[in-house]
Amino acid sequence: MSASIPLPDLLDLEPDAALETLRAWMAARGEPAYRATQVFGRLWQRPVRAFDDITELPKALREALAAAFRISSLELATRQQSIDGTEKFLFRLHDGQFIETVAIPDGDRLTFCISSQAGCALQCAFCATGAMGFQRNLAPSEIAGQVRELRMLTPPISPTNIVFMGMGEPLMNWKAVGPALTLLNDPRALGIGARHITISTVGILPGIHALGARPEQFRLAISIHAPSDALRRTLMPVNTKYPLADVIAAAAEFDRRVTFEYVMLGGVNDQPEHAAQLAQLARACRAFVNLIPLHPGGSMGFSPSPAPVIAAFAKALRARGVETAVRRSRGIDIAAACGQLRTERLGRRLPVAAENHGEVHVA
Ligand code: SAH
Repeated sequence: MSASIPLPDLLDLEPDAALETLRAWMAARGEPAYRATQVFGRLWQRPVRAFDDITELPKALREALAAAFRISSLELATRQQSIDGTEKFLFRLHDGQFIETVAIPDGDRLTFCISSQAGCALQCAFCATGAMGFQRNLAPSEIAGQVRELRMLTPPISPTNIVFMGMGEPLMNWKAVGPALTLLNDPRALGIGARHITISTVGILPGIHALGARPEQFRLAISIHAPSDALRRTLMPVNTKYPLADVIAAAAEFDRRVTFEYVMLGGVNDQPEHAAQLAQLARACRAFVNLIPLHPGGSMGFSPSPAPVIAAFAKALRARGVETAVRRSRGIDIAAACGQLRTERLGRRLPVAAENHGEVHVA
C-alpha cells in the first residue's frame, strides 16, 4: 500500500459527479456503462460499507474499485437509548474526532439531529459544543454519512426528517453542507424531501443567502435566544458580527417561512418584557417561534425556566399574534442536547439530576 495521497471518496460527490466519475472510470477499463449505475446504487440507496460487499460485481472489479476509490464509513463508538425512545449515536471519524447524531421519534416521524462540524467556534454561553471549541469542518461524506450509517444498522433506522441541530454551525461550513444537502435530498441518494430538512443557524448572513439561493425548499431555523443585542451579545458572541437587525432582515427576505429557536433560560431571557420584544422581531419577519426548554447538562451557570414561566411566555407571544410552539425536551436522561454526548465521552462529568430522567415538558 502506498496510500500517502488518500483515494477520492465517492461519498463526497454529489450524484451527478459520482455517476460521471464512475462512468469515466468504467469506460477507461472497457466495462459496460451499467456497472457505474450498479456501483452508484450501492453508495446511498442500498448502502454497503466496502466495495467488496457489492457482490453483484465480479471480484476483480471490486478489487480494482477499492484500489481507485474510497467509500468512507464512520465508526459507531457509542449508542445510547433514552427511556423516551430518543437514541444517541457517537461516531469516531478517521482522524479520531468524535461527532454525534440523535434520532428522535415523535408519532409517525423520526427526526435525525445531525452534526456539521466537530466542535464549534461560536461559544454560545449555554451550549456544550461551544465549550469544547472548534476542531474541524466535516466533509459531505461525514454529514450525509451519519444518515447512511444508521441506514446500515441491523435493523436499519431511516429518518423522515433531518435537522442540522447537532454539533457545529452548518452555515460556517457551507462548502460541505451545500453538497450534503443535495445528498440528503436527491432521490438518487437519500431522497429526503427538502421541506423535511431544516438548517439551524445562529444567523450567519452569507450562509443564509446561499441557502436562500437554493431552488429546493429547505427550511431555515434561526437561534435567536435573546430579543435585544445587549442581552444576545452576552449569550451569543456571534451577535457582535451579525447583530439582530441584520439577522431579522435576512429572515424577512428569505422566501420561505423561518422558525425562531428560543432556549428558555431561567431568569435570563424569560421575562414578560422579553416576550414583548421577541414578538416584535417575530412579526417583523413572520417567523414561527419554537420555545426550547434548556437541556441542563453542560450548560454552565444556567437553569431551565420553570414550566409555568414557559407557558406564560408562549401565551404572551400568541396574544401578540405570533405562532408559537413549546418543544418537549427529549433524551434528557442521555444528555442528548448539542455536544453533550461527546463531552461525556471525553471525560467531563455532566450533572444530570435523577428527577430529570425522561422528563417531558409540554405547554
Ligand atoms: N449552530 C446551530 C445548530 C446547532 S445547535 C445553531 O446554533 O442554531 C441547535 C440548537 O440547540 C440551537 O438553537 C442551540 O442554541 C440549541 N442548544 C444548544 N445547547 C442547548 C441546551 N443546552 N439546551 C437547549 N438547547 C440548546
